[in-house]
Amino acid sequence: MPLTSPRPRRKKSLGQHFLTDPNTIRKIIASADLDPEATVCEIGPGRGALTVGLCQSVSSVVAVEMDAELVHYLHPLTESCLNLDVQHGDALAFAYDRLPEGTVVVANLPYNISTPLLFRLLEHRDRFSRLILMLQWEVARRLAARPNTREYGALSVITQYLTQETTLLFKVSPTCFSPRPEVESAVIRLVPRQDTNQEETAGFLRTVRTAFRHRRKTMANSFREAGWALPGVHAALDQAKIARTRRAETLTVQEFSVLATILQHTVPNHDALPKNG
Ligand code: SAM
Repeated sequence: MPLTSPRPRRKKSLGQHFLTDPNTIRKIIASADLDPEATVCEIGPGRGALTVGLCQSVSSVVAVEMDAELVHYLHPLTESCLNLDVQHGDALAFAYDRLPEGTVVVANLPYNISTPLLFRLLEHRDRFSRLILMLQWEVARRLAARPNTREYGALSVITQYLTQETTLLFKVSPTCFSPRPEVESAVIRLVPRQDTNQEETAGFLRTVRTAFRHRRKTMANSFREAGWALPGVHAALDQAKIARTRRAETLTVQEFSVLATILQHTVPNHDALPKNG
């Protein structure tokens, strides 16, 4: 059924930039490589640009939209697409654990909250087989960045640790949206890891966030400033075969993983480290 009711007023505060380019819409859906039996979770269906194609590709689509007027606007679509369930709510608070295992996330994310949303989705990674996300080009570059580059930081290391694959797929021009965003966009594919345990992950996050706290200093100094005893930190770095003079942006994800495990077992006040960087 066509969406004929008047379009709701656009709400800038909700990061509403609607996709209008049919080619980009097709490319995003093709990138998801959807199995007809799959469940898709779409965050922010907006006016349904991606939703219609998703409903034609899989057996079930759960779409979470914060804007009540857009939920109302999409109502006729739910009458013609019986496999579409539009949920009114905040994607940052949505109960992802109710989705079936293997769900694929496909979303043109609201850019103002793309990073917290990404972390929220990765917290629930046991539900998802992959995530196809559109976000700002700069953020996408940071997610996929390699060590010793300007873009490489805590966001890159944490995302790459929690996924088996983080791939920047393609760039999208502002002309593909209405209204046009001020920045360029990109589509990325994330394939979550399913083999991390909660305690290990918490230790890894604390280590990485602390290490990147002072980018211009050596990591050892960043840890010291966070309240760690330097001898313990030096011993952990030596055991991990990481030179004491290294800065955080030179370490690979694997090196961070080794270091975090050693720190967690050898430095007594590891748990006292700040949780958020
Ligand atoms: N998917 C549509 C498209 O591609 O044209 C809309 C994408 S638009 C960039 C982001 C969408 O996310 C908007 O519909 C907006 O209302 C919705 N949104 C913003 N914040 C949200 C939140 N916290 N939870 C759920 N949806 C949200």
